[in-house]
Order: sequence, then structure tokens, then C-alpha cells
Amino acid sequence: MLTQAQKVADRNSFVLYLDNLMSQHDDNHEALALVVVNINNFRRANTLFGFRAGDSLLNQIAERLYLVAVAPEMVGRLSGHTFGLIVPNLKNMDQAQLAANKVHSKLVDTFEISGNRFRTRIAMGIAYFPKNAWDAETLVEKGELALESALTQDTQLEVYTDSIKHKLSIGWDIENAMVDALDNEEFELHYQPKIDLHTGEPFAAEALLRWRSQEKGLLLPNDFIPAAEETGLIMDLTDWVLHTALRDAQEWPDKWGKHAVAVNISTCSLRESELPELIKQAIACWNFRSELLTLEITESAFMSNIETCIKNLYDIKNNGIKISVDDFGTGYSSLSQFKRIPADELKIDKSFVYDMIDDEQNKHIVELIIELGHRFQLKVVAEGIEETRTLEALVDANCDYGQGYLIGKSMDQEEYIRWLETFCPS
Ligand code: C2E
Ligand code: MG
Ligand code: MG
Repeated sequence: MLTQAQKVADRNSFVLYLDNLMSQHDDNHEALALVVVNINNFRRANTLFGFRAGDSLLNQIAERLYLVAVAPEMVGRLSGHTFGLIVPNLKNMDQAQLAANKVHSKLVDTFEISGNRFRTRIAMGIAYFPKNAWDAETLVEKGELALESALTQDTQLEVYTDSIKHKLSIGWDIENAMVDALDNEEFELHYQPKIDLHTGEPFAAEALLRWRSQEKGLLLPNDFIPAAEETGLIMDLTDWVLHTALRDAQEWPDKWGKHAVAVNISTCSLRESELPELIKQAIACWNFRSELLTLEITESAFMSNIETCIKNLYDIKNNGIKISVDDFGTGYSSLSQFKRIPADELKIDKSFVYDMIDDEQNKHIVELIIELGHRFQLKVVAEGIEETRTLEALVDANCDYGQGYLIGKSMDQEEYIRWLETFCPS
């Protein structure tokens, strides 16, 4: 017998159905919404448990989408792990958001697949007829653009706006735009607190780069760092980030003791022999205490030019600066490369942390990384803490430091100082 997911309309049939429905709505002067739902971590289910398990997960997801849909035809599969859900006869725009909330509560849950428990993560995009499109192809395209925007911004839901299309449009001369942005001061640093999990005290902040582009609005590092690496502009950006972070960190109140700053260093910058000198100059310029600066580097940075990277890291470390290995567990370097890094800190990637309570395998990985870090005399940081129970489990597992939305999101310099004042009033 065919399962419901196997009966789910494919993209072509779904678009045809949507087109007809849009014509009927047009005749009746009514509006409808399309919710595009993506299962972010679907590939992981395939990798962990095999393709049959992946198919079983898709079946279950479709079944739950039918519970939200007005009729089964309102659900279609747009691509591998992306579904479309039509919300017809809208009385107001909130109705689509309510449907999206329902989808969220039905899908962000633990699924039983092939005897294993798997917790899904989803992102959604919404587009409206007639507001955003008059034909079904365009409506689907705009729903997908909204979804893409949610994925790049790491948010759960984005509603389509023209600025999204603008922001994601191709053919933009990003290289020249970045050069102008440096001149026009369009880059900003935001700060996310890191706390000591045993005392609950904030002791440092990670600097996260933002680009407030006049043309495209707010852009996140993943939108432009790859282009900066490709075009060679990355060293200019790294230099700007270092100077700005050290200047800002000097202003942080030190009434609770020393407060450190962590700066992310791109793979490409780490391979440049002038990096240690650039850092020395920034420290001298701001008369900064080098032991209060941490550089966060990613494991995958070591895939090529390992000798230059290690030499740079020793140079930097000899100047008293701390080294943190970021996104640990997701890179491709081997443990034999890892042991050559003169590290002080290990950051467990957020993909293992956020659902460690429900995903036993991730819990094991987190516990093993903590153990590994401690064996190497390193401090271990868990990033991506979103829930209290995760924080409690990390304290139990003897993790040293924590970072995540539960503790504080990234904030601009002024907000960060206010956050510090409220968090630790004198
Ligand atoms: P990262 O260094 O691993 O930074 C953590 C990312 O996770 C940040 O995203 C942060 O906003 C996000 N995050 C923090 N807490 C949570 C949480 O509880 N849940 C979830 N889901 N996410 C959380 P962001 O700012 O988009 O940065 C992405 C990456 O871009 C960073 O990953 C870092 O590798 C890179 N990056 C950021 N700033 C710079 C920079 O100045 N230079 C370079 N080269 N790379 C940077
Ligand atoms: Mg980082
Ligand atoms: Mg990270």
C-alpha cells in the first residue's frame, strides 16, 4: 500500500494545483498563502540511519503536514526535503503565520525512525497571493526565497518582501561593494557573551561581524565572508575587525575583573604569513593586554598550508594571545593535526549542543569532546545553548564555558555594555 508521503504531489502537480486555486481565489477576490517548509537536518537522518530511514522520516513529516492542511491536496513536495503547504481563503495575514506556528509545533519534535529517535529542525518561508505573485511558479519561487533568507539568517520563519529578493539577487558586484563598505563604515561588530558555567559570570564576548549595507540591508558573515576570501579582501576585513574589537573591548567595564574579547579568524587569513604582525600592531595601537584576546579558528583551516598555519599560531601564542578551536567536531582535520595546534580552548559546535537533551548521540559527542578537551588541558566552551535544560546538562557534564541565545544573543557595543551592567549590577 502506498504511504501518504509517496502520494504527496510532486512539484509539477503541486504548482498546477496551486495555479488553479489561485485563479479561483482571484475570481472570489480572496487571498491565499504558501508556506515553504524545509527540514534543515534531513541529510543527517540519511547519513546516520540510511536512506530507508530518511524515506520513513519524510512519510511521517508529510503525515503531520496533512494534520495542518485544510485538504491533502494542499501539501506538495517541492524538492528533496522541502514541502509546500497552501493556506487558502485567508481572512487576514495572521492566519498563515498561525498555520506556520502549527507546522512548527507538529514538526519540531522527536521522530521514531528505524528504531532510532531523531529530532528535526525546520525553517519556513511564506509568500502571499495576490500580494507577492500572480502565478503559481512565481509564488513558489518567492516562498523559496523567503525560506532561503530564513536559512541564511538562522531564523525559523521569514515572510517574503521585495528586499529579500534584492538582498539575495545575483550579479551584485560584491567585491567593489565591500571596498566601498569599508570606506563608508558599513561594517559593525556585535558581541555575544561567554559565561563561566560554574559561576554563571560573563568573562568574555565573541565579536561577530555584521554588514549594514546601504543597498542590501543587514548581511551576516556567511553572506559575504566567502566572497571576501575569494577576492582577497579578507585581510583588510580581519584588520578592521581586530582594531574595532580591541577598541571596543577597552570600554567594557572592568569592575568585575578582566573581560576578554574573542575574534574569529578566517581560514585564509590564518595562512597569511603577515597575520602575526597585523595582530601585534593592533595590540600595540590600542595598548591592549594580549592575554585578553582570543582568536577563534576553525578546524578545517588546517586542511592546507598546515606548516604556515602552525608557525603563525606559535608566533601569536608566544605573544600571550589565546587560541580557541571553533566548531569542533564539524571540520575535516584529523586528530593528529589537532594535537599540533597550540590551543587553549575548544568550542563544541552548536549542531551537537542545541538538541543534546533529545539526541542521545549528540549528548555522547558533547561529553566526549569535554573529556577530550580536559585531557589536553583545554577549557571547553559549548556554543548554541538555547534551553535551560541544555545548560544544566552541560554543567553536569563539567563543561567550563557556555554561549548561546539562552544567555544572550549578539548585541551591538552599546547594548552589550547595558547587558553587562544589568547582568552584573555593581
Ligand atoms: P561562529 O564563530 O561559530 O559563531 C557562532 C554563530 O552562531 C554566530 O552566527 C552566532 O550568532 C550563532 N549563535 C550564537 N548562539 C546561538 C544559539 O544559541 N543558537 C543558534 N542557532 N545560533 C547561535 P553568525 O554571527 O551568523 O556567524 C557565523 C559565522 O561567521 C561564525 O561562526 C564565524 O565562523 C563567522 N564569523 C563571524 N564573525 C566573523 C569575523 O569577524 N571574521 C570572520 N572571518 N568570520 C566571522
Ligand atoms: Mg566563533
Ligand atoms: Mg562556532
